[in-house]
Order: sequence, then structure tokens, then C-alpha cells
Amino acid sequence: MPKINENFIKIPASYLFSEVARRVNEYKKSKPDHRVIRMDIGDIKLPLPDACVEAMIKAANEQRSASTFRGYAPDYGYDFLREAIRNNDFISRGVDIKEDEIFISDGAKSDTGNIGDIFSAENRVAVADPAYPVYVDTSAMGGRAGVPHANGQWSDLVYLPCNFSNDFLPALPGVKVDLIYLCSPNNPTGAAFTHAKLAEWVDYARKSSAVILFDAAYEAFITEADVPHSIFEIDGAREVAIEFRSFSKTAGFTGTRCGYTVVPKEVTARNERGDNVSLNALWGRRQSTKFNGTAYVIQRAAEAVYSAEGKMQVKKLLDFYKENAKAIRDGLQRAGYTVFGGTNAPYIWAQTPNSEKSWDYFDYLLKEKNIVVTPGSGFGSCGEGYVRFAAFGRQEDTDEAIRRLTEG
Ligand code: PLP
Repeated sequence: MPKINENFIKIPASYLFSEVARRVNEYKKSKPDHRVIRMDIGDIKLPLPDACVEAMIKAANEQRSASTFRGYAPDYGYDFLREAIRNNDFISRGVDIKEDEIFISDGAKSDTGNIGDIFSAENRVAVADPAYPVYVDTSAMGGRAGVPHANGQWSDLVYLPCNFSNDFLPALPGVKVDLIYLCSPNNPTGAAFTHAKLAEWVDYARKSSAVILFDAAYEAFITEADVPHSIFEIDGAREVAIEFRSFSKTAGFTGTRCGYTVVPKEVTARNERGDNVSLNALWGRRQSTKFNGTAYVIQRAAEAVYSAEGKMQVKKLLDFYKENAKAIRDGLQRAGYTVFGGTNAPYIWAQTPNSEKSWDYFDYLLKEKNIVVTPGSGFGSCGEGYVRFAAFGRQEDTDEAIRRLTEG
């Protein structure tokens, strides 16, 4: 009889989104005539930019003819997309990333989770609290988290509390860690590192021989000049960081699926003999063995994000979400909430007004205001007492939700 990977059954079933869905469905059944506004959903509402759809159609038509048909895609991505990414996302910001340091994938969720494959189970992992749940759950799957405690925290993870007193930006760990997940702009808090703050992390990683796993899935939402779009804007980061990017929220690819990971040639980790091993080579080895490339049609759609039309259309999408985020943030403030985020991210992190627990406040908003948010405690224990509003909804829904909340 085969034995299972025990790490998988240590992970509690994902409770957050299923529980939100259960409570919302139950409420809707009991009050079918109430209009419930969803401000919890992390999925985008607006359709794909035309330029991307046109590129997909053109690429699909190429599949009809033997002379233009494409079979297996290169494991690391087509050169046309890697080049477009290099020029538009990095060179244009003065960051020299080479094509062979860019690995195209089906999104940042897979890559932030799979990256653990190339690291020893003995590594000590630091995660922000609250955090995108994939970092914690995949660390557990890889045997790096230990055992879960009753409060939901894992014995072997190092938690970096993010709260009111540190502007929701994690402080440097007090103990030695090997791998550090950082997400900026942040899901769920909307906080973002300035250059100076991120430079402290790069400096720390260099001094303590740690590797930063930098999730920049929301970089396109940055509006402030002193917030870096890439960790590689920071001097010295090439030796200590891996960066994850996504077309999901930037260009509406949540269902289309495309992202990429940057692994510079200089970033290394030790083997058992104590030699430095290139993580670029290891990630390449992992991808070429376990991943057979993102579909050609999809990579052409992603390439179109960087065309002149694509850029204009993507800007329009982003402007809409940014405006929406600002409207939610301002509206919540007018309604008397203490709020964070929403300036460089599509998420607004609101403190519950009278220190209510996140789930209690979720129930209040659902039943009294017919508004659905995400309870902050679902992202970690430091999220208790907060709820997350997402800016991916329709403008009329935002206006209506703010009206309901301002009414008192
Ligand atoms: N990283 C963060 C912080 C996210 O919030 C999400 C999605 O919600 C992802 C990664 C996943 O991105 P993708 O759609 O590219 O898999």
C-alpha cells in the first residue's frame, strides 16, 4: 500500500473562501429580495483587453496551418514574450534583467508555491502575518512548516507580524531565517514597501545569507513614486532575490493564466558540501522537468499587453480599478473607518470600528448592510480585527456600498 505525503493532511482545509460562500449563500436564501454587494472577490470583473483577444485569435488561426502551427512551447517561454517583458518591465525602469533570467509560467500562484521544490526541507521560512495563504500552505506541503498549532500558526514558520504600529510592513526577523516571502504591494493589507524599506530587507538578506521570495503580483497598481515595482530596482537584490509577476490583475488574465518568475544568475543557495549553487539553473531544471510551457496562444496574448494598443487598454483597466480603490478608501474614511492600503494596491484593509472580531464584523456587514468583505483573520492571526475590501467590482456597486455604510 503506498503511503501518502503526510504534510498534506496536516494542512487544515481552506476555510476562508468556502466559509464566506456558505454564509453568503445561506443569507441570500433567507433574504432573496436583498441585493448583496460582493466586495470580497479577488477576481477581476472587466474583460480582457481587445489587443490580447485579437492576438489570441491570430495565434489560434496560426494553428490551422502546418507552416505556422506550434507544438510544445519552450519550457521557459517564447523569446518574443521574454524579450517584451525584459524591455517593458525592466529595462524601461533601468533594471537589467536578461531574457534567460525570465521564466514564463501559468501564473504567480503556481510559481510562489512551486519554488519550494528547489529548496531543502531544512530551510527556515519567514512569512508575513497576515499573508497570501499559498506561502504558508506550500511551505507546509514541502515539510518546512512543522505542525499546526490550535491558533492556526505553524511550529516551524517564523511569523512577521504586520499591524497598525508598523504600517503593516513586516520588521526584520529576530531569528535566523533562510527563505523570506515578501509581497509588495500586499494582499491583503494593501501596504507597499518604499525603496528605503525594501533596501533594508535586501541588506538584511545579504548579511544573513537569506533568499527573498518577492511576490510583485500587484506592481501595476502602484501609484506612488517611491514604491519600487521590482525588487531588482534595489542595489544588491540580484544576489538575494527571486521575483514573481502575474498578468492576472494587471491585464485581466485570471482565467487566461500567464505570469513569470525572475531568477537572476547571481542568486545562489548552498549544497551539502557548502558550494554555492545557481538557483537560476535549479529553477530551470525544475521547470523543464515538471512544466511543459504556457500555451503559445496565451503567450501571444501576454505579448500584446506590451503593444501600443495593449498598453493603452491595460492602462484603462488599471485606471478603473485604481479609481475604484480610491473611491472605496475615501468612502470608508468618510464613513468613519480607519483604513489602510488602496493607494498602491486594489485592496483596502479596514479596522473593525469597535474591535469586533473579523468574522463577527463580516456577519454584521452581510446582514445589516448586505455587503460581503473578506475577514482579515482568514489571512493570519494578525488579521484579526480587520476586513478586506477588494476594488475589482463595478463602480455603481462601490457607490451603493459606500452609501449604505455612510448612512450609519
Ligand atoms: N500572489 C498574490 C499575492 C495574489 O493575491 C495572487 C492572487 O490573488 C496571486 C499571487 C496569484 O496570481 P496568479 O493569478 O498569477 O496565479
